[in-house]
Amino acid sequence: MFYFDDFYGKKVLKSSLLEDIDCFFTTREFVLTYSSREDLKEISEKNREFLLDKLNTDKLITAKQIHSSNIEIVKENINFYDNTDALISNIRNTLLLLNFADCIPVILYSKKDKTGAIIHAGWRGTADNIAGKTVLKMEKDLNINPKNITAIIGPGIDKCCFETDYDVFEKLVKNKSDKNIYEQKENKFFIDLKLLNANQLSECGIKNIDICRYCTCCMSDIFFSYRKENGYTARHSAVIKI
Ligand SMILES: [Zn+2]
Repeated sequence: MFYFDDFYGKKVLKSSLLEDIDCFFTTREFVLTYSSREDLKEISEKNREFLLDKLNTDKLITAKQIHSSNIEIVKENINFYDNTDALISNIRNTLLLLNFADCIPVILYSKKDKTGAIIHAGWRGTADNIAGKTVLKMEKDLNINPKNITAIIGPGIDKCCFETDYDVFEKLVKNKSDKNIYEQKENKFFIDLKLLNANQLSECGIKNIDICRYCTCCMSDIFFSYRKENGYTARHSAVIKI
């Protein structure tokens, strides 16, 4: 279950599945990166400092996201990863941060292994199974049993607003008989990217999955939406402190 919470006076969104660690999605009230919104540059830099101060760490780890399925395991002393859409870390005190405006944020955490990950899954990443590949990497490279991983799928564009043509539909939906995943209206397709990601995670053996049904496009008063705002937008962020 997802609920809005207060982070020292700023509105954030949390999941009851990952309540006992510092892990949440930010909102328009708490912008940490400005993108095309130059007017938000100053406040986003201030907010980052505020975040690090409140979470008592200086190890902020982030990436240049390019809608790939490139996944990195964070190494000591490297804070920035080029061309990367999923970050995994088991280093104490690291704060992972990726940014979103409609794309689907996925956070993974194994309490037993004290290891977390953030995945940026837009439609391209989803078509490439970036969520499944991240779990597999945690399993193979870090020896983590997927049964110990909790997954939360955060706010992103929902089926109501993610309208595509046949070319995107064909790349995303392998099982066309599964009507939970999409709805067809004439020659347009409305696809459930969150459910596709949840399915990829369950196929890897993850049992605990929380899906946030807030649609960033419908709720652009609270979250940033690339589609609703025609590209002139900042990003909300997903953060987890290990
Ligand atoms: Zn919507």
